[in-house]
Amino acid sequence: MSLIANLRDTVGASNVLTEGDLTAWEQDWRRRWRGKALAVVRPGSTAEVAAVVRACAAHGTAIVPQGGNTGLVGGGVPDGSGTQVLLSLQRMNRVRAVDAANLTITAEAGCVLQAVQQAARDQGLWFPLSLAAEGSCTLGGNLATNAGGTQVLRFGNARNLCLGLEVVTPQGEVWDGLTGLRKDNTGYDLRDLYVGSEGTLGVITGATMTLHPQPAAVTTAMAACASVADCVALLNLARARLGPTLTGFEMMGAFALELVARHFPALPRPLPGAAWTVLLEQSALDPEATARERFEALLGEALEAGAITDASVAGSLAQSHAMWHVRESIPLAQSEEGLNIKHDIALPVSAIPEFVASTDAALARHVPGVRLVNFGHLGDGNLHYNVQAPAGVDAACFLAEEEDAVNRIVYDAVCARGGSISAEHGVGVLKVDELVARKPAVALGLMGRIKAALDPQRVMNPGRVLAG
Ligand code: FAD
Ligand code: ZN
Repeated sequence: MSLIANLRDTVGASNVLTEGDLTAWEQDWRRRWRGKALAVVRPGSTAEVAAVVRACAAHGTAIVPQGGNTGLVGGGVPDGSGTQVLLSLQRMNRVRAVDAANLTITAEAGCVLQAVQQAARDQGLWFPLSLAAEGSCTLGGNLATNAGGTQVLRFGNARNLCLGLEVVTPQGEVWDGLTGLRKDNTGYDLRDLYVGSEGTLGVITGATMTLHPQPAAVTTAMAACASVADCVALLNLARARLGPTLTGFEMMGAFALELVARHFPALPRPLPGAAWTVLLEQSALDPEATARERFEALLGEALEAGAITDASVAGSLAQSHAMWHVRESIPLAQSEEGLNIKHDIALPVSAIPEFVASTDAALARHVPGVRLVNFGHLGDGNLHYNVQAPAGVDAACFLAEEEDAVNRIVYDAVCARGGSISAEHGVGVLKVDELVARKPAVALGLMGRIKAALDPQRVMNPGRVLAG
């Protein structure tokens, strides 16, 4: 039987798409990569995923797993060969169980992140993983990329919230590792191997995640800083004064906010004129009035110390949402402005002020007029340090001519300071060569041997993360 006929038998003909407009699956969110799938296959259960993988493995056909297709490094769309099966998890979108007493939720991989958050909220609990793509990204995609987002400062990334996984191996076996245990030292941690593996070692079909009590009060504020060093001073003061109630600390450069104002003029313009704007969030178990007092005392102290020049505390939930909306609109505003060179980098927080000053200067020397969209999760030492063409220069030409040189300047500076070239978005196809160039050879060798041991046929997302 042909592979396509076999797949139709397995998941039903209506869930094997081979013609018509498949752009939604074949093109990535940034519109940087556009491939051609042999078929888009949409299984509805773990057993169907396993059967699809077995059929593809029998034909030696490569599989590209995909969740919400919001990934930013090109790892979830097929290549242009027309030979890869796009395995969409979107139909596997059920929450299987919430165990309120154990503070856990078990959901299928295709569950949209927002739906997982809502299922927790329905039980009076909180699933703190949160990112701007949460209305479309999926739990499986979050785990496959070890997503970060805006609450990492307090709760860690997707890995830190994951207790157990269900995975279909490249041979089509099902590993049921769905456990809600906080302690389980029974050998190698397979869960940690799969988290962050970007679809190269198997298909995640379900996960058990940690929940937290819902905070009584969530308060948000924005502060204006004159320099990155002042943002770092504010971060350290906020950590000292707010302790574990500090759940968000986002930094935004003036040009990033200018793009938001240009493309979304209806959104409020917080603290106009600030060189750097910080969004702080506090999630407290004590009453709102107490949390607000603590916030105001912190900002007063920061003002007196000269770390900030102005601040505004959200007076209502609507104002708080508006502040977050501005922050979360930056990636969209950037994409409206045109293609850009993205860098999702991590550095020790202490190295960030000097890194930004010297790298901004090096880029301006290399491309006079270059525009930097610098924003990110300063509390985690994670910047989205993106480089946009000078005003009036065609974005596609800029990318074609300057991407390699710009990457070299930025990544050399990152590596010289002990940083990482991928903080939270992953490697995908975008950073495969960079990884080869910059990861220690011993580490690359170990990764290659893990891949060869688990997926000797190289059917799972070949060419992603690891070359070849
Ligand atoms: P996809 O894009 O579908 O896939 C991503 C990768 O995971 C691919 O390699 C794919 O093959 C693999 N994969 C997907 N599902 C599975 C599965 N079930 N089993 C095995 N492999 C799988 N990321 C952050 O970390 N922090 C942010 O703050 C953040 N903000 C973002 C904001 C916007 C506006 C956008 C568009 C993206 C943002 N991202 C962010 C990136 C992206 O949303 C996350 O990486 C997200 O976790 C991807 O989920 P997805 O379901 O869309 O995965
Ligand atoms: Zn981010």
